[in-house]
Amino acid sequence: MEPGRHIQLLSDEVINKIAAGEVVDRPASVLKELLENAIDAGARNVEIVIVDGGRKLISVADDGCGMTRDDALLSIERHATSKLTSAEDLERVATLGFRGEALAAISAVSRFTITTRRADAQAATEITMSGGKILEVRETGAPPGTTMACRNLFFNTPARRRFLRSDQTELAHLRQVFLLHGLAHPEIGLRLVVDEREIYRLAGGASLEERLRELLGAETAGALRPVDTERDGLRVRGFASLPHTTRGDRSEQYVFVNCRPAAAPVTAFAIGEAYQGLIPRGRHPLCILFLEMDAALVDVNVHPTKKEVRFRHPPAVRDLIIDGLRSALALPPLPLEPGGTGLPQLKELFVPAGRPLPVSRTSDLPGLPAFPYPRVVPGARADHALLPAQGVVAPPADAASREGDRVVPADASNAPWSWCRVLGQVGGTFIVLETQDGLVLMDPQAAHERVIYERYVAEAARGAVHAQGLLAPETVTMPPEQARVLRKNLAALQEMGLGVGEFGGDAFVVDALPAVLGERVSPTQLLADLATHLDKGSPRGAGAAWTREQVALAACHAAVRAGDQLNPTEVETLVRDLARCEMPYTCPHGRPTVIFMGLAELRRKFGRGG
Ligand code: ADP
Ligand code: MG
Repeated sequence: MEPGRHIQLLSDEVINKIAAGEVVDRPASVLKELLENAIDAGARNVEIVIVDGGRKLISVADDGCGMTRDDALLSIERHATSKLTSAEDLERVATLGFRGEALAAISAVSRFTITTRRADAQAATEITMSGGKILEVRETGAPPGTTMACRNLFFNTPARRRFLRSDQTELAHLRQVFLLHGLAHPEIGLRLVVDEREIYRLAGGASLEERLRELLGAETAGALRPVDTERDGLRVRGFASLPHTTRGDRSEQYVFVNCRPAAAPVTAFAIGEAYQGLIPRGRHPLCILFLEMDAALVDVNVHPTKKEVRFRHPPAVRDLIIDGLRSALALPPLPLEPGGTGLPQLKELFVPAGRPLPVSRTSDLPGLPAFPYPRVVPGARADHALLPAQGVVAPPADAASREGDRVVPADASNAPWSWCRVLGQVGGTFIVLETQDGLVLMDPQAAHERVIYERYVAEAARGAVHAQGLLAPETVTMPPEQARVLRKNLAALQEMGLGVGEFGGDAFVVDALPAVLGERVSPTQLLADLATHLDKGSPRGAGAAWTREQVALAACHAAVRAGDQLNPTEVETLVRDLARCEMPYTCPHGRPTVIFMGLAELRRKFGRGG
């Protein structure tokens, strides 16, 4: 400090400017605060107008409760809020705003007008301000509700103004705010006008699904699965993308905590965990997750922008998100870490997984493959078969006519591809497919396991497992520990179509097996696998459903391990069967069945640019 200077108290004007810097750092934060206020005011419809990337104008008009003249004058004072009265209220904030500083901040760094009218008032009040100073207060005519207009943002803080980016960038941030609030409040009608062009007109009273389709597009919405899991007073609901739809960053992971767009490090972490092994490193799923919990279990007052929240019990939130996402993707829960709080919620095995949103896939119509694939391997007819998913898209017109190609219908409305062509096998193992979107590598073991698992589970759910008697019943002697586990679960095994009986001592006789498992499965291998799966120790509270799921997992595993090399016809059948599955993207243990390599990714890797 220079000598001779004395300490001075800052003037209100300077204090407000400093404080404004924390709340308002760019046009998007103005929009966020004004939108939150409109929502808190109970608006049914909100209209947003933006000019010049928000530099010139950001205006938010609502049909909410409005304010009296006195309240309107108070609202622009710092720490003026109608939403909190005591420090205890801070412990359970239910409104979006509560700090009472947004309007003071915004009006300190712009030319700001408030026009507001309560429904029961004769006239509206209009307050005109500039750089935090009131220029005029007058009565005017206006419909009930409030319009707040922020003009010439940062006109009196040139340093801030210089930090603004191009209109394009600012608009992208503004759009993100619009999107977040639009998703959080499908019940509110929203209109967005940018530079005199209407960008969105979203009807109120919509469902989240409808909003998603309007805001993200039908194609993206079609790749989403519903999420809804609840435990111990915590709930996560929303939508999450199937593993083949990913993004290069997390910007399309929308997390809301009690309807407030907000996130904490633990939410991003949990989302990553849930998709572990399903998507390539560096890729991120899309999701729209609403966390609902008692307001006392979350601290929203961590940061002036309220973008980050702190949870009372982060591990419980983490486990809930992981389980919610994994059940949405029809995956078994992740094994519980020692010391973790919650139990992995066991997905009821016999409830079919949710279907993605219906979507018309006309945009997926394949361009006709122009290249006639040379037939280098004689006799490998199936290598070039086109396998369209029936009802989704017509196969390329010339497909059926090309010599040697066969069109095999697969009645899947949920298929990962609308058509595909088997190109061959790599390393004698992995199947290579061409689809409308690029290349797909398939692990036939994992795929086969998924196919028979879903069939088996469906039969079991109907109580109609088709058991196939063995020509020669087999006697199997088990180690004592495994024998004990099997004896304990004998009833469940029989219920699942396994003809297993005690044969004295630690021996068992097997005289029938579920037909879906195929003929190659060895009873000895099967019983050993069953004992191992059932011995893992069921989580607390797990009942018959857990046992049945373990039986299904073990049986399918044993069946697939017994599998041989596939001939081209079997490959084709497998590809078609997998496309029909409820959850074709992973084996029942969560390993991927398919790895996608999109055309866009290939273009990028070859440096072909956009
Ligand atoms: P906070 O939202 O944190 O309370 P703000 O500075 O954003 O603080 O707003 C101050 C007060 O002004 C609010 O508490 C509310 O009473 C009133 N207010 C702001 N915007 C509106 C609006 N659109 N409709 C009705 N009242 C509003
Ligand atoms: Mg506010």
